[in-house]
Amino acid sequence: MTKNSINSQRISLVIPIFNEQDNIIWHFNEINDFFESRSITYEIIYVDDGSSDNSLNIIEELQVEHPKIVHFITLSRNFGKEAATTAGLSAVTGDAAIIMDGDGQHPIGIVDDFMTLWKSGNDVVVGIRTSNKNEGAVKKYGSKLFYAILKFIGGKDVISGTTDFRLIDKKVVTEFNKLTERNRVTRNLLDWLGFKRAEVPFEAEERHAGTAGYSYRKLFKLALDGIVAHSTRPLKFIALLGSMISTISAIVGVMLAIQKYILGDPLSLSVTGSALLALFVTFLVGIVLVCQGLLALYLESVYYETQNRPLYVIRKHR
Ligand code: UDP
Ligand code: MG
Repeated sequence: MTKNSINSQRISLVIPIFNEQDNIIWHFNEINDFFESRSITYEIIYVDDGSSDNSLNIIEELQVEHPKIVHFITLSRNFGKEAATTAGLSAVTGDAAIIMDGDGQHPIGIVDDFMTLWKSGNDVVVGIRTSNKNEGAVKKYGSKLFYAILKFIGGKDVISGTTDFRLIDKKVVTEFNKLTERNRVTRNLLDWLGFKRAEVPFEAEERHAGTAGYSYRKLFKLALDGIVAHSTRPLKFIALLGSMISTISAIVGVMLAIQKYILGDPLSLSVTGSALLALFVTFLVGIVLVCQGLLALYLESVYYETQNRPLYVIRKHR
């Protein structure tokens, strides 16, 4: 494929928006300058994820100004970034889609690398975050910890720092749009789909304006969803843990009982029988609760899948 034939192809940007009123215009200009200076045809599909600020009005005005470039979908309420991205991907008409945050944290400059790698035959080009300027310690180490856990329980090679900022070929978009599960982390599903893949490292920018719409609570939920949707290995792991703890407590219990009642407490531990019992009961109750909690997570996941509700509800689109 030559450079010219790539330039005759159309790129669809999918940008989920949740309360980004101070970022949209600035970000649009950055994108527009980028693609115009390279004579690349493109469209932007904004997905307003139930913003409560002025975001939707700003997008609607942009759409009137640039009817060929700007399209939008607005959801009936806040469904979360994953659902919003899914809604956007379902409206893609270009030869490739680029998923991008609307707050300026994903540098448009590396789209040059995305395009080159796409041109050379890759179907998925993933942005890998090497660092995040001024990122809070909780998010930074939280995300490191999450990837470590995912790697441990999932057993698969999960690359840390993998983001939604990526280019995907039209054929990957088509396959993605066939997936129906509700409990979804877009990047994990895209990784699951496979296809020929390349990576581009980038340094995340600071958010242009506003604050992250992802609360720690949402991030924690995303991490849990990622783990539960990824593998059922925790189920086997807790079963193993449970049996280990039972074995150990049985052995320790027997040893302490022999020490006290048969050998006549030579170590002078003076452990009472009821203290021993109480200790083990609390211990085991804790384990049972952990197991139940994990089971509940899987059940919840199954529950939501079987409800088969739509992933999002569109209020208006243009
Ligand atoms: N976003 C969204 N719905 C939400 C939360 C966020 O569409 O419920 C959008 C947000 O407007 C931004 C992108 O998803 O374009 C990333 O969100 P954010 O910057 O809050 O997350 P972080 O950068 O902390 O991952
Ligand atoms: Mg952000």
